Order: sequence, then structure tokens, then C-alpha cells
Amino acid sequence: MTNEPATILATLPAVHQVLDHHGLAAERATLDHALLVAEIQACLAAHRERLRSGARRTPPTVEEIVEEVAAAVRAWRAPRLKPVINLTGTLLHTNLGRAPLSSDAVSAMMAASGTVNLEYDLARGKRGNRDTLVEELLCRLSGAEAATVVNNNAAAVYLTLNTLADRKHVAVSRGELVEIGDSFRIPDIVKKSGCKLMEVGTTNRTHLADYQRALEERAAVLLKVHASNYRVQGFTHEVPLAELVGLGHKHNVPVVTDLGSGAFVDMRRWGLAGEPTVQESVSAGADVVTFSGDKLLGGPQAGLIVGRAEAIRRIKRNPMKRALRCDKLILAALEATLRAYLSPATIERSLPAYALIGRSLDEIQKLVDAVRPHVERWARHRATVTVESGRSQVGSGSLPDQTLETRLIALAPLRGSPEALAKALRELRPPVIGRVHGGRVLLDLRGLHEAQPLIEALAADTSS
Ligand SMILES: *Cc1c(COP(=O)(O)O)cnc(C)c1O
Repeated sequence: MTNEPATILATLPAVHQVLDHHGLAAERATLDHALLVAEIQACLAAHRERLRSGARRTPPTVEEIVEEVAAAVRAWRAPRLKPVINLTGTLLHTNLGRAPLSSDAVSAMMAASGTVNLEYDLARGKRGNRDTLVEELLCRLSGAEAATVVNNNAAAVYLTLNTLADRKHVAVSRGELVEIGDSFRIPDIVKKSGCKLMEVGTTNRTHLADYQRALEERAAVLLKVHASNYRVQGFTHEVPLAELVGLGHKHNVPVVTDLGSGAFVDMRRWGLAGEPTVQESVSAGADVVTFSGDKLLGGPQAGLIVGRAEAIRRIKRNPMKRALRCDKLILAALEATLRAYLSPATIERSLPAYALIGRSLDEIQKLVDAVRPHVERWARHRATVTVESGRSQVGSGSLPDQTLETRLIALAPLRGSPEALAKALRELRPPVIGRVHGGRVLLDLRGLHEAQPLIEALAADTSS
């Protein structure tokens, strides 16, 4: 560059001037030396660039640089993963960590954080198997003969298909070739499992005769995928699982069903229809049933695989099982979560996901009454606040057309965009996540576990 303001650049502080400054004494004493130097260099480089481009004309003082470096170090030390208040109206939000864990699950994780009998048989004093920690409970609850657990449901489907149909054909209805979230597509997972996809029937109608033809063309597995996040409506037909099982077994071909959510309790209890339970799928005779740990089960991220002893035995012996297995903390949380289902009548008290799902409108209104004045105070110069009725969804691909009545606090911005208002809420501590709809920010109070953290977050914000 010919007209580079070299004289201004020369006035930037030197690295050692910043490093030796008393304002960084605490950082010097505690932070890794090379990291601190790198942070100072990065800060100086950014300033050099700003001066060079003309974005800034006067060089920063040493104090300014020191302050920036200290702020950067503070940011490094603060956790990136932090609690947020989910008022989006989607109760089990995949981007927000899905199911909140129960206090029993959290205690179990704490207890398991040290040395534990993860793969150790205490009775015999010998090597054990980590599956035994949850297998008995899973079998008791689901009615299945055997069970195993992997990292998530995508892994469960992958491992099941790879075990039962490697290099062979998997028959799936065209109405069930679903995409769930970003990167989980049934056709892709079938392919990545080493299997060949055999499409059966049509998008809206698939009959038993279609599967019959697939078997004649030597399908090695019949796969039924639960339509988690969509519905096929109108002129439709799908083959019930029990019929598919009857057909598969006549041909000695295993039937696998991917439930997605995998509820252990009948969701009709809360007015939500259309979610098959794990027990129903097991008793329909499926060889393998897979589902997530952190959707309607209300536990940690995991993929549960339950079914007939022979199929599960083969799945456990797949060498990829080890690559997909869960660690002790997850197994601890999962075991505690499963135990809650020994008393399904009190599931709303034992699992936070069901506390939200089972909440009455009266309870939600009480929360609205408790937080509304604080929202109004916070929004004084930013938005007008109204309360109205709305609908929450369970989320995570479960029950797409089934919603729960709720109360919304709606904020209509006085100036600026609703997006800016939503951003201001995300900057609270903890961040509050609403949804922008129709020019307003909606806060769905069904998702609020308790009022106090929200009230404190609003009160602590002194900007306005
Ligand atoms: C959610 C879902 C999956 C993926 O489960 P993860 O636990 O997120 O891996 C697979 N199949 C169906 C039908 C689902 O709903």
C-alpha cells in the first residue's frame, strides 16, 4: 500500500507495553502466558487493520487495549453453554437441549461422576456390561425381551439397520421417507448403514401387498418410521405395525420400527392423540423398536433400542456398538429417568417435561400474574405488553398437529423491530428466548418452569 498511514501505525502500543501493564496483573498471574500474548497480538492486529482501512483514525491508548484484552479473557473464562429460559412455545426444543432433566437424574449424574461400577459386576467381582444398568428396567417398562442403549436415536437406527441388513435391502414406505431436523433423513441413514433402500407404496398410500412385493424382491428388513414431525392426511393408508409384523414373520424377516419420540405414557392423558407408546409397539411384535432419550421420554440424549432377544443380541455384538455407546453420566441420568415411569401416575411431578405438558391453564395464568408487572417494568420504554391465549407445541418432532392451550405475554415494540426486542431479551441473564410473530415478541409461559429466574433476569437489566 502506498498511502498507508505508517506514522499512525507506528504509534500502536507494543505487545510488551500491554503485557506489562498493571491493568493486566491478574491475567498475567493466572492465564497461560502464550494465550495472553496471543490475545494481545490479536487485539493489536484488529486495531492495525482498522487504522489501515481508515475505519478508525486515531490510535488506541494502552489502557484501551488493556481493557479490550481483559474483556476478551473474561469472555474466554465464561461458559459458552449456559442455561436459558425457553419461552418459544416449543416445550422440547432441539436447539435448546430438548428435555430438561429431573432432579433425580441430575443427582444420579453427580453420584456417577466419580468411580462407579459402570462395567463391573459387583456380585462376582468381574468385568460386567454397561447395558445391564438400564436393560432390566427398560424391559420391565416396555415389555421387551432385551434392550440396549446408544448415543442417540439416529445411532440406534443406524446400528439396527447395519446389524440386520448390511448390504441388503430395507423396505420403507414412500410415505415414511422423512427428514427430521437438519441432517437426519431416512434414505441417507439407510444408505450410511450399508443398506439399500427399497421404496414401497406411494407417498399417501401404502398397502400390505406393497410390502409383500418387497419381500419377494428379498427385502432383509421391513422398517416402519413414525411420522414424527408431519402428518399425511386425506386419501391415505398405512399398514399398522401388527400387520407388518405378521407379514415379516411369515417370511422370517425382522420388522423394525423407529418411533422417534417413544412415549412410555399415553399422551391422550393430556389431550394429545397420535403418539404410539413404546409398549404398544413392543406388544405389536416388532423385533426392534428405537426411540430417543430426550424427547417424550424426558431424559438425557440417548438412543434406546428394545425388542426381541435375538435381534438385540446381534445389535450388541456389532463392533460399531462401542463407537456409539453412552458414557456413565448419561446412563446414570437415563436410569433415574426410567425409574420415574415405575410410578406413571406421578410423572408430572417426577419429570419436568411432563410438569410443563401437564400444566393447567390456571397454573399458567398464575405465572403470568407473577411475571407480568416485571415484564411491564422492563418493557416500559420498549414495548406495550398484552396477555393473550395461544397454543404451545411439544416439539422435537413429537405430535406435530397436537397443541396445548397456553397464555402468551406479547410485546409490541414502541420503536425498532421485534427482532431487536427479541435480541434484548436474549441478552438478559439468563437469556430469555421468545418467538417473533406478526411484528411482536411472544413469550409462551407454559415453558416457564418457575417465575423467579425470569423476574430476576428482568430486574437485573439496567439498560433500557
Ligand atoms: C427425532 C427422530 C430421530 C432422531 O433422533 P435423535 O435422538 O435426535 O438422534 C429419528 N427418527 C425419528 C422418527 C425421530 O422423530
